[in-house]
Order: sequence, then structure tokens, then C-alpha cells
Amino acid sequence: MTGFDYRQFFTDDLAQLREEGRYRVFADLEREMMSGIYAYDHRINKRITIWCSNDYLSMGVHPDVIDAARNALEQYGAGAGGTRNISGTSHEHVMLERELAELHGKEAALLFTSGYVANDAALSSLGRHMPCCVIFSDALNHASMIEGIRHSGADKVIFAHNDWRDLERKIASVCKYRPKLICFESCYSMDGDFAPIEAICDIADRYNAFTYVDEVHAVGLYGPHGAGVTERDGLQGRIDMIQGTLSKGFGAIGGYIAGTHEAVDFIRSHASGFIFSTALPPSVVAGIRAALRHLREDGAQRQALARRAASLKTRMIENGIPVMPSPSHILPVMIGDAALAKAITDHLMVESGIYIQPINYPTVPRGTERLRITPTPLHTDEDEAALIAALISARDAFPGWLPLAASANGNTQHDVLELQS
Ligand code: PLP
Repeated sequence: MTGFDYRQFFTDDLAQLREEGRYRVFADLEREMMSGIYAYDHRINKRITIWCSNDYLSMGVHPDVIDAARNALEQYGAGAGGTRNISGTSHEHVMLERELAELHGKEAALLFTSGYVANDAALSSLGRHMPCCVIFSDALNHASMIEGIRHSGADKVIFAHNDWRDLERKIASVCKYRPKLICFESCYSMDGDFAPIEAICDIADRYNAFTYVDEVHAVGLYGPHGAGVTERDGLQGRIDMIQGTLSKGFGAIGGYIAGTHEAVDFIRSHASGFIFSTALPPSVVAGIRAALRHLREDGAQRQALARRAASLKTRMIENGIPVMPSPSHILPVMIGDAALAKAITDHLMVESGIYIQPINYPTVPRGTERLRITPTPLHTDEDEAALIAALISARDAFPGWLPLAASANGNTQHDVLELQS
């Protein structure tokens, strides 16, 4: 057979990824429900400690959540049975949307099958249907927002990360009659930094722009009721649309948007990724409702996570581990090279049973490859001591690591050099 060799094409492409150290190798985990943070990895036949889970508050293994999901599974069965329009809307869905709207102080909310789909569906609908819309997007926005904006076909203007002055310069140059959408995240997942939300809202007011904030890494975690950074900072009322996930702070799967009745109804009526996809299983929704209820009323998980993140960060700094200057619960550790990141994470896993997935391009820019450490309320002092010992062992085993991390990027360079001295 002549012509295009499909198998060879795939083989060559994968070989290139391997050569660059970017080929992704998955763990093969059996998570222990009782501990929530230990798992058996079938790939290496070893019990390991997970330090890179996005089940930030361990709600995925909380007894209230498990009970609610189990009861609903027995009551309603495994699946929703259809799209939301065609038999897939259960009372659980209706109630969760009501509760999410209430959590964020908004009139309405809408569920999606993931946070990715929520961003893609909402942004593509907003950008496509608002006439001559211009979308202003933070340079470090997540892939799901970038794709949503791309799918909208609207004009896109990228502003420098968290640089509201750059945003204002750019927004001021656009015709005042055009609809303007400002898209950003409240907490950035790879650097762990927060957005200047108030300054962005001030600009939105001055230029009559619509604000869309992704609170994926903040819902459940920040604010007195876990409604995110906008709640913590008293800014919920100044944001037009809040987007969140149900897979991280709330421990399960799914995504949502919250806003005015009209804006949410508009997306419900236009978004292909909402209309043509089967609804979340009611049992999952029931579990999420239990997580949401718990986190609204009880801040214990949030406080335990904050304490663990602070103590880990201090100990990493004391031991010369190049943790980036993140003010949030996310603790990125700079490495600066894909192959080295893989070698270090393999070392941590094999020598110490510490599981941290390396973060590579395109998730982060080339040359800023890193570890992304995410503590949980269930990690103990002993787990923390074991992690620090393992990081010290890796630091000593790879002498090229710290100089490389120090030269990896501007902000980090300063902190890393300080750490080394
Ligand atoms: N938005 C941001 C900022 C994310 O980091 C992610 C995923 O990590 C998503 C959206 C997608 O959320 P989900 O995992 O629920 O699809």
C-alpha cells in the first residue's frame, strides 16, 4: 500500500515528544479511600503518597459525600439518561444549580460535564453571538478559555499576565460601542498567584466591559463559605459571570457558570457543549451537593489546607528547595527543563514513594518546567517530613537543578537566588 503512512506518522510524533522529555507517562493508581492520600501504583508495584491531587480539600473521600452519592446511586441508578433537554434533568441537577447560584450571590447557575466544557461552551457562545465582540484574555489563561475564545471567532486581545495597566491600555484603544469581554482566572493553577480582581473590575466599569472569571482553583477553598477568591475579597457582585469546577475543591466532576438569569439562560440556549451532551449522573450531583453544603458551613478543611501549605512552604525555603513565590495553596517548584523534571519526579517516586507529576510545555512555557505540589487537609506531619526528606535527596542527587531553576525566569530567579544564599 502506498500513500500516507499513518502508523509511522504517529510513531515519529511520539518519538519527538520522548526526545524532548515531554512524553506523558500516567501512573496506574488505586487510591485508598480511608486515607485519601495514599495509593497503590500498579505500574511500579508500590504504595505511594499522592502530592499532586486537585482534590484539594479531600472532599472526594469525605464520608458525607460518599453517603450522599451512594444513596443517590441506589435511588436513581448510574446515569442521567439523556441530555438536559431530553430526560436528563433530575431534581438533583435543579437543586445544585440553585445552590451554586446562591453560593456565588448570583441569580442563576448552569451545570456542565466539566470545567473545561463550561469555559469552552460559555466563552464560545458569548464571543460568537455578541455583535463585534472583543475578548481581552490574560496571557496565562487556561487552555479551556483559550479554546472557547478561539471557537467564538471573536477578536482576541491578550494582556500581560495580571497586568491591569496593560489591560487598560488595550481596552481604551477599542471602539467604545463594541461589546468587550474580560476573561481571567482568580487563582492561576501553575504559578499559584491571584489576579488583581478589584483593579480589573474598575476597568470593566470604566469601559463598560463584561467580566468573566474562572474560579476553578478557588471554589471550595477561599471565602468564608468557599465561594472563591471573589467572595474572600467581597467582589462577587462586581463580576458578571463566575465559572467554576466541581472536580477540585468539591472533589467530584463537572463544571458550571453563575450569573444573571438572562446571561445564564442565553448560554443554556446557545452553547453546543451544554445542549448536545448527556447530563452528569444524579449520584455525582448528590455527592457534590453534600460537599457544597459541608464547605459552606464548615471551614475546617480550608483551614487545615492553609496550615499545611504554609508549613510546607516554610520548610522548603529552609531547605533550599526553589519553591516559587505563590501566595495560595498551590506550591510550584521550579526545575527549568523537561528531562530534568521527569528525572527528578522518577527519583522521588522510586526512592521515596512520593508521587508528583512533572508539569511541562504546553501547560507551562518551555524552560519553566516545574513540580506542582498540592497539599491536602489529610496529609500529616509525618507525610510532610517524608516529602521534605525526599526533596532534599533529589536536590542532592541532581546538582544541576538549583542553578537551572535560578535562571528559569525573572520572578523566580530572585527568590531562588535568595533561597540558595
Ligand atoms: N480552568 C482552569 C484554570 C483549569 O486549571 C482547569 C483544569 O485544571 C479547568 C478550567 C478545567 O476544569 P475541569 O478539570 O473541571 O475540566
